[in-house]
Amino acid sequence: MLTVASRINPPLSLAPTEIPHPILPCKSHEPQSPFLSLLQNCENLNQLKQIHAHIIKNPPPNTRILLNKLIQTSCSLTHIDFARKVFDQIPEPTVFLYNTMIRAYASNNSRKEGILLYLELLHKGPNPDDFTFPFLLKACESLSLGKQIHGQILKTSVSSSDVYSQTSLVTFYLGIGELELARKVFNKMPERNVVSWTAMTTGYVQAKRFDEALGLFHEMQVGEVEPNGVTLVNVLCACAHLGAVEMGKWVHGYIDRNMNRIDFNAALGTALLDMYVKCGYIKKALRVFEDMDDKRSAFMWNAMIGGLAIHGLGEKALELFSLMLASDLKPDDITFIGLLCACTHSGLVDKGKEYFYAMEIDYGIVPSIKHYGCLVDLLGRSGHLNEAYKTVKKMPMKPNGAVWGALLNACHAHSNVELAEIVMEHLIELEPLNDGNYVLMSNIYAASCRWDDVAKVRRFMKDRGIEKTPGCSSIEVNNVVHEFMVGDALHPQSKEIYSVLEDVAARLREEGYIPRTSFVLQNIDEEERESALCHHSEKLAIAFGLISTSPGSTIRVVKNLRACGDCHEATKLISKIYDREIIVRDRNRFHHFKDGTCSCRDFW
Ligand code: ZN
Ligand code: ZN
Repeated sequence: MLTVASRINPPLSLAPTEIPHPILPCKSHEPQSPFLSLLQNCENLNQLKQIHAHIIKNPPPNTRILLNKLIQTSCSLTHIDFARKVFDQIPEPTVFLYNTMIRAYASNNSRKEGILLYLELLHKGPNPDDFTFPFLLKACESLSLGKQIHGQILKTSVSSSDVYSQTSLVTFYLGIGELELARKVFNKMPERNVVSWTAMTTGYVQAKRFDEALGLFHEMQVGEVEPNGVTLVNVLCACAHLGAVEMGKWVHGYIDRNMNRIDFNAALGTALLDMYVKCGYIKKALRVFEDMDDKRSAFMWNAMIGGLAIHGLGEKALELFSLMLASDLKPDDITFIGLLCACTHSGLVDKGKEYFYAMEIDYGIVPSIKHYGCLVDLLGRSGHLNEAYKTVKKMPMKPNGAVWGALLNACHAHSNVELAEIVMEHLIELEPLNDGNYVLMSNIYAASCRWDDVAKVRRFMKDRGIEKTPGCSSIEVNNVVHEFMVGDALHPQSKEIYSVLEDVAARLREEGYIPRTSFVLQNIDEEERESALCHHSEKLAIAFGLISTSPGSTIRVVKNLRACGDCHEATKLISKIYDREIIVRDRNRFHHFKDGTCSCRDFW
């Protein structure tokens, strides 16, 4: 039965077709078995079976070596079931063979079989060695089993200091989200090469624990471990999320100094660009983009287009899109999200609609729910509320919270209480616990002085235990991040900050500024509401920026929520009166305030 295959299948190159048994056992005087070279050139299962048949029929003296090689080749050709059949016929397989099989199972999504074979190894096989654990941990998905393997590694004296087993343990714990356990193993490692450091920083970034990722990078520098490209991508990602631009700039300098060693590829370039975008340095981001020149991937073009969009540089984003097309790169669905977002943030309604319809007709990209969300946002912000609502009702898929949320924002911006109430019914169903929606709804009522309804929303939230996320703004001065909550007096320079705010209020009044008190939620009297507005977190951060940075320098503030309308108006005037450029990153985008205007042109 085993030899039939040789007649059906094209024979291996060693033997001509006319010979019935083309593969013959090697003669004793030959220096190397022909099977070995046959195995090296083997391409499919039938050829593997042919060779196996011949070995079994006429076992050559080096049968065991040949069977080992046969199993290896079968595994590398991903014929794992066949490899296992051969494996099971071998009396007392070596640990090397067990490792080969476990690795094959782990690499080919047969995790369970890999684990079962390991248990068999423990039960009746030889002792596992340093090469067993990395493969095994790759197959392992359960914490309890992982802990058992961890114990086994500690017992196997050689492995307890083996850097590969230890790194695999770190990667395993990170993979199942056990960051603390990963860190424990990592801390105890006698030798930490760059791979384990990178695994650990990746774990922190994936778990959104950006502070710890940067802390680890600092330790790495103290330990004089040279980071690789992947480590730097992680660090830049953490910087982007934290707005830690000084660290980000340091990484940029480090890349420049180590160009001979670090591969400055599209992924690293994109991470650097993204860091500058998210920290508010759009010009620097553009320079990185220009410097990447021929190394630009579609991913990088998308990041730049999206970056220009959230900085309100819509026209520039559209210009870049034309250049992208000219460079023969195909736009994808993400490119169009960036383009629609660019049109939204710059009020380019007709252009945005044009792109939305062109994406399917000209580029064959079917709009997803995200694209519909962008279209609703585009129409809504520019005041085309009916058209936006019609779009939501006509969408080919069920609108989600993001789509309705965009419409609610539009209702807020254009004071449409009736539509807001309809929208809110859907949002309560889809996102019952999203505090932002309720706060927006109560702001919509407050803007129309419907205080009873404001109270109703408040009560609704209270009854369901939904708490409002407090506004929080931060500003980095001399490498220290200062955080402010609304009305907070905890900062050591609080007194000075509040006196600056009084000065600001007086100078704003001189300029004819009237506080937009409808942005205060409580139903309190006018004077109280005015002072509550003055103490919004972004105003505190800006006031601190005014007293703690040199005149004329740019003030950069990061806010966790959407910018409030009153603060937005006030910041415009502050930028003019104090002759400062003020850049505020809120939850949705960047606002560049200069000479009394904002880059968002009030579309936000
Ligand atoms: Zn405010
Ligand atoms: Zn703005």
